[in-house]
Order: sequence, then structure tokens, then C-alpha cells
Amino acid sequence: MSDFLPFTRPSIDEATIESVAGVLRSGWITTGPKAKEFETRLSEYLGGRPVRAFNSGTGTMEVALRIIGLRPGDEVITTPMTWVATANVILNAGGTPVLVDIDPVTRNIDLEQVEAAITPRTRAIMPVDLAGLPVDRDRLYAIARKHGLRVIEDAAQSLGAKWNGQRIGSFGDICSFSFHANKNLTTTEGGALVVNNEEEARLVEKWRLQGVTRFADGSMDVDVPGGKYNITDVAAAVGLGQLPHLDAFNARRHELARMYFEQIDPALGLELPVADFENTNWHMFQPLLPLARMAISRGEFVARMKEKGIGIGVHYPALHLFTLYRERGFREGMFPHAEHVGASTVTIPLFPAMQDSDVTRVCTALKDVLLPVLK
Ligand SMILES: *Cc1c(COP(=O)(O)O)cnc(C)c1O
Repeated sequence: MSDFLPFTRPSIDEATIESVAGVLRSGWITTGPKAKEFETRLSEYLGGRPVRAFNSGTGTMEVALRIIGLRPGDEVITTPMTWVATANVILNAGGTPVLVDIDPVTRNIDLEQVEAAITPRTRAIMPVDLAGLPVDRDRLYAIARKHGLRVIEDAAQSLGAKWNGQRIGSFGDICSFSFHANKNLTTTEGGALVVNNEEEARLVEKWRLQGVTRFADGSMDVDVPGGKYNITDVAAAVGLGQLPHLDAFNARRHELARMYFEQIDPALGLELPVADFENTNWHMFQPLLPLARMAISRGEFVARMKEKGIGIGVHYPALHLFTLYRERGFREGMFPHAEHVGASTVTIPLFPAMQDSDVTRVCTALKDVLLPVLK
């Protein structure tokens, strides 16, 4: 189907493709000068804070938990409404994920419940900016300061988003980005960690690559079991090609989101996301389906949209209902708002290369699929 409209698609220009080819021809294709340059450019974009690039967003969060000195049994508070990576890294680092419900309006972690979940064993909070909409940084950092907690921002989806006019990642404690193919900036796969100072950055470098420290005399030592998280120059070249376009990409996402608010028929009963045009980077546009009024399931809805040539994503099922987390005592009914979103959310197409007419096409298909099945 040539006119299939996916829910997302990266915008890679010819200059980027040429630059990748240049790396491939250069004789040095793993971590090298492009990786370094990518870190420098990202740091500039984020107001000069220390940035280290990774081969995934997941890797950045694992290393973040290592450098704050997480010990077995330490608790980390996060949200059930996120990609499962956010909670998996806590388990992998030996910590205990503590989940609290989301705010039903923003769909981000409920900060009042975060504060109520703090115990003497709590070490950190890992908020997630779902769909690119930032968690309230003023309240978040007030809580963290009051209780002496570290914050690892899972900003995988919010590069270019803002709080009080400042870019996410340009202030605060530790901040993690992902450059997976679907994110607002991609390196095919990749990520970056923003830290507070050069001392933390050196710790990040150590944990990023096998725990190795290199000395000026050419010798090296290993004192921690670090991982294998370095980004390649091939991937960094993709990121370098993307970064100058990022703000324009996000501006286009805003335009498209605005059109959705104007064109989605209110009669369909879809619960729309917060109409934010100040802070979010519109990483995704996610209506909730009116399942109680629908004669078909979400799966059938997705299939019918696909028949009309429109790709629909599901981001995400509430993670506490996955087997791994049920085995750790989580149950249905614990986080009703996250469960409601997890059961009814759909991601409709939104990416910078979309045409205005694509929005109209999606809105027409929504009407054609939903109106006949509404009770
Ligand atoms: C994409 C994503 C991750 C993981 O990033 P990877 O680069 O795929 O490892 C983590 N958390 C959230 C919220 C994400 O969207």
C-alpha cells in the first residue's frame, strides 16, 4: 500500500545520508569524532550542561542509576504509564521500582502521590514526560529538595519541550533522552545523558564502557562492571544531521496537533490530550477511545484504521500488568487512571513530514470507523 500513513516516520535529509556515507568511507565507523561533535552540539542546545551520548535511552537510565550509587533495595518512584524500559532499568540496577498512579489529565505521574510514597529507602524519582508533555518541574524539584532525593528525568520523548520557557534538560538534576527511530530526533538507535558537572560526566564515561578508566601514561584500570553503551560515529552522524532541524520539526508537530484539535469531530467522544502549545514538543498525539460506548474493541479499531491506510500505535499498556511486575505484587485496580489510559489509548499519525491533508484524512477515517460502532 503506497499511500499508507504510518503513525510516525523519521525525516532524514540527503545531507545526513551523505554525512553517514562519509563516515562509512572514512575508515573509522565506531565511536570517534562524530560522537564527540554530537555531544558538543547537544550540550550547546541544552545550555552548555555536560552531555554524554549513548547507544540507547535505556542505557542512559541504567548508567544514571549507577552513578547516583543506587544500592540493592533502594526505592525509585516512577509511573506505570511509560515504556517498560523505565521500570526495567530500576530492577536491572538492583533497585525496587515503586509505582504511583498518574494524573488523569496530563497522564504524567501524580506528584502528590509521589510525595506520599516516599519512605526512608527512597533514593530517586524517575518522572516521564509522556508524549513530550513535561512533568511540572517546579513541584517535582520542590519535592526532591524537601526529601533529599535525586531526580532522573526520563525525557526520552521530550527533547525540545520546555518548562518556564527553558528547554527540558537545560536545568534540573540528571536528564535522559532517547534517539530511537520514533523520537523527535533520531540517531536510528541512541540516547544521551545530561549531568550536573564534569565529575559526574567522568563517572558516566566509566560506566558507559566496561568500567574502564584510562590514565595519561597510557595505562588503564577497571573498578566497576560497566556496560557497553557507546554510540557509533555512524549513529552520531545521523543525530548531527537532525539537530539543526529539531526546532522546525517540533514547530511542525505543533501545527499538526492544532489541526487535530480543530478537525477531530467532538461527536466521536474521543478524550483528547491536554491542548498545550507552550511546553510540549508534541512527540505523540493520543486520544483515548470511548470504549464503553463502542461496539468494537481497540484491536478491531486499529485493524479497521489500517484497512483505511492509517497506522495506529498503542503507547502504552500500563506496565504493572505485565507478568514481570505482577510477579512483584502489582495488580489490576492499583492504578485506575493508568489502567484507563493503558486500555483505551491510541497514537494517531503525527510526524513533521505529514501534509495538512493527511490530518484531514486521519480525521475522516476516525469518523468513518467510529461513528457506525458508537452505541
Ligand atoms: C523510547 C523510550 C525509552 C527507551 O529508549 P530506547 O532508546 O529505546 O532505549 C524509555 N522511556 C521512554 C518513555 C521512551 O519513550
